[in-house]
Amino acid sequence: MGNRTTIIAGNWKLNKTASETRSTILALRNRLVGLSTRAEVVVFPPFVSLETAIDAARGTGVKVGAQNVFWEQSGAYTGEVSTAMLEALGLNFVLLGHSERRAHFGETDATVARRLEAVLHGTLTPIVCVGEVLEERESGTTGEVLARQVEGALRDVAPDHIGRVVMAYEPVWAIGTGKTASPLIANDAHTLIRSSIAAMFGRSAADETAILYGGSVKPENTATLMSESEVDGVLVGGASLDAGSFAEIVRAAG
Ligand code: PEP
Repeated sequence: MGNRTTIIAGNWKLNKTASETRSTILALRNRLVGLSTRAEVVVFPPFVSLETAIDAARGTGVKVGAQNVFWEQSGAYTGEVSTAMLEALGLNFVLLGHSERRAHFGETDATVARRLEAVLHGTLTPIVCVGEVLEERESGTTGEVLARQVEGALRDVAPDHIGRVVMAYEPVWAIGTGKTASPLIANDAHTLIRSSIAAMFGRSAADETAILYGGSVKPENTATLMSESEVDGVLVGGASLDAGSFAEIVRAAG
């Protein structure tokens, strides 16, 4: 898998108050002490807990990201936050285009592209999520759907910025359902995503892009998923809420 970064990311979604965020990160730190891992470990708490998370994570090696960001920097956009605001907190990562944002909040490939452009003007590392729903998989259109989502999200990325983009393959039918994609399904989908990136930015850019798998990742299935050549890390929802199981996932990822 070349020089691609290994990332173990925990998406906390709409869970945990600031004080629960602090205690979970401190518990995670205790469980990670002495563990040698090649992975970057990142947690994504809700916006209101980000400052607490940064504070709790200081000196632990655990990084912090946001679950979304808006594309404008300021103005009459009630309820939104900007890339500069997140950067000022000391954040490292941001999730873009998670399927729950697509399903519940009107996110589209076009709005993901706008957010991504704003992020790449700054310093955050974006993790762009793509993935098919069950009907698309069953009707054999997964390849088309992934190509459309990758091309749609990355269409305005400058060639010298593609090296900063991390992708996440999250089959919607596997998110929060307990049904993990088999390692082979994940590897095939990652290969398709990499081909779309290669068509847009060239083979070597595609080969350097880290692609995470997300969808019911647990301590028990992490090692087999990570053993696939195209899987560079995992994006974990439910199992990242508990410091013990998230630390087990980090350990299993090697
Ligand atoms: C996610 O929210 O990105 C996710 C993969 O959730 P879960 O691990 O709970 O399926």
